[in-house]
Amino acid sequence: MIIVLRPDATKSDADALLDKIEAAGLKPLYMPGSERTVLGALGDERVLGTLHLENHPLVESVTPVLAPYKLVSREMRPHDTLVDLNGVTVGGEQFVVIAGPCAVESYEQTRTTAEAVKAAGARAMRGGAYKPRTSPYSFQGLGEEGLEILDRVAGEVGLPAVTEVVEVADVEQVEAHASAFQVGARNMQNFRLLKKLGQSRLPVILKRGMAAKVDDLLMAAEYILSEGNPNVILCERGIKTFETATRNTLDLNAIPYLKAKSHLPVVVDPSHGTGIREFVAPMAKAAVACGADGLLIEVHCDPSVALSDGQQSLYPEQFAQLMRELEPFVAAAGRTL
Ligand code: PEP
Ligand code: MN
Repeated sequence: MIIVLRPDATKSDADALLDKIEAAGLKPLYMPGSERTVLGALGDERVLGTLHLENHPLVESVTPVLAPYKLVSREMRPHDTLVDLNGVTVGGEQFVVIAGPCAVESYEQTRTTAEAVKAAGARAMRGGAYKPRTSPYSFQGLGEEGLEILDRVAGEVGLPAVTEVVEVADVEQVEAHASAFQVGARNMQNFRLLKKLGQSRLPVILKRGMAAKVDDLLMAAEYILSEGNPNVILCERGIKTFETATRNTLDLNAIPYLKAKSHLPVVVDPSHGTGIREFVAPMAKAAVACGADGLLIEVHCDPSVALSDGQQSLYPEQFAQLMRELEPFVAAAGRTL
């Protein structure tokens, strides 16, 4: 429920109402605005009905949030959320490109790639230290050593770093080394992990599960926000369909849908979305055109020897060309690169 207070309601009036909401066993939310204070009450709406807040002299209106997800919905928060990625704002006027290798393989590989993507205009870098692979025999990532390399390179090159966290036990370790957590497609509904990340304030890039509906992605994001972390970036990375010509089917419908239903920023990963290097650039441009706030792109200093996802990783010069080609698309979308 969204409870809009009258303009003359004071902070102590709001506190009294919040206490009443809490005493009824509902989760109270305080959202002060420049003209009006808005309160939220999350939980069983039948219980809220028994409070009869609509009759309170300082309450202007009481509106139910119809969406099943509450905190992530635009009904609850009409304005776009800006997520601060260690000094880089995602969701605002600037279109943010995050680029780097699928996996951290060595210091040299990470550093060379990071320098190249920074020179081409990336605002943040990526690199997995913990890799959830389809096969147990594939490279699983360097683990803590990978995090240390990523952290060192991020500091040397001057880019915030994004890296995947695959389990609850690793959260503190990843938090100590990265500027944002990435939750992979295979973990989108790992609710214990989502709740744990909700207790942090580090941004979370939440990737859509490969067999998840967009509403499932929003419900997964709700787990993180409901624990108190508002810094969530949604990521469309392609889904499984009957189509096998490409690794996944990048669902661009999801972008305007997510932007309409939620205030959270949305980034697109055309690398996993297509699985084919040549298709990354056209789908990246399409993502800009349909309203994405940024891109997550795999780039490797030498994709021919990459330990994971080489076939979809861009060569540094291809990434630099893509960044040049993106400019008019970003300008047409009314943003800056
Ligand atoms: C990745 O970003 O390298 C990755 C494993 O992505 P996803 O979880 O989308 O498959
Ligand atoms: Mn990958």
